[in-house]
Amino acid sequence: MINMRIKKILSTLEENGYDAYIVGGYVRDYVLGNETFDVDISTSAKPKEIKEIFDLTSGSVDNYGSISFKDSLYNYDITTFRRDIKYVGRKPVAYDFIESKEEDVLRRDFTINGLYMDSTGKIIDLVGGIEDINRKIIRVIGNMNEKMVEDPLRMLRAIRFASKLDFELEESLYRYIKQNKQLISSLSYERRKSELDLIFSSNNYEVGLTLLKELGILDVLEINYDKVKFCSNKAGIWAQIEYNKNYPFPKSERKIIECVNRILKYGTIDNITLYECGLYPCIIAGEVLGISKSNISDMYKNLPIYSCKDLKFSGIDVMNVLKLKPSKKVKDIIKDIEINVLSNEIKNEYEEIKQYVIKNWR
Ligand code: ATP
Ligand code: MG
Repeated sequence: MINMRIKKILSTLEENGYDAYIVGGYVRDYVLGNETFDVDISTSAKPKEIKEIFDLTSGSVDNYGSISFKDSLYNYDITTFRRDIKYVGRKPVAYDFIESKEEDVLRRDFTINGLYMDSTGKIIDLVGGIEDINRKIIRVIGNMNEKMVEDPLRMLRAIRFASKLDFELEESLYRYIKQNKQLISSLSYERRKSELDLIFSSNNYEVGLTLLKELGILDVLEINYDKVKFCSNKAGIWAQIEYNKNYPFPKSERKIIECVNRILKYGTIDNITLYECGLYPCIIAGEVLGISKSNISDMYKNLPIYSCKDLKFSGIDVMNVLKLKPSKKVKDIIKDIEINVLSNEIKNEYEEIKQYVIKNWR
């Protein structure tokens, strides 16, 4: 059964005299019984015509001719039937528009991604995709070498789908990747990261990690790992592997990964880790270490302080009591007080901290 909202979009294109189909991940996941909210639509209408039909005024055409918009449920990507001519990185920079899905399907990567669904919900399988879904196989459409040389990211995509769906790479694809892994070295770190992110985010991440290792592409990717424990958050996986520092992480993600990595090396979560890293990285690390989220949240709620501002004894108090000028020593003393308060050695009370400081730091 085709969803009514999506049907309406296809029918609108048809009423205007064009062919239109859902294609790619949505149809694949539909056949597998999985729900997806990203809908790729392939049509004979040109970008300009699509914009007119849907009355899209804002700039939603990306520079390779795909038109994107969303409703409250779905993200739509409408692309004109085409043949790709030249790839730079992941996206084709030159293409020809063509007339039919029979030709459009040839530019696609794998048979499982080459299924078309029409406005009545009928699936049109031009490449044996259904059989491959049933057999759980990732198979390239067309000439393997041409496809991979054109866009080596497809090797990582193959591993991503094998991982996400728990499928196997068709034998010749497996062999091809093993023998031609050097092609991957031309991929930017951005492209590598976004595919690895998707591999690491899948429940069957182990399938992906095993394949990357078996195929011998860790070196080319400039990553390495031994045992990696499950974590539903990709930051928890990145924290368990070594990777070239050129991998581009947003600042906040890099910080989380570094915290998780430190906690994993430390091996447990206590008040000090919670105070220093914050709750979120601790929950991620906790999943890897087998410490429950509710335990960690309770510990966090009960922290005696959340920042040095919460201390009942300030840097100024330290300077007054010990007759010190602002200096690194004052900072060291505050750090020491924090640690003692956090590990419940002393209470966060002015008098108690004062006595502690006099006794230990004078
Ligand atoms: P998902 O959205 O679940 O990640 P998807 O298969 O929909 O998977 P998209 O990146 O959304 O992947 O691409 C939509 C479709 O476009 C694919 O199913 C495939 O047919 C085609 N496609 C995408 N990227 C490539 C590529 N690099 N080479 C060839 N075909 C591609
Ligand atoms: Mg998609």
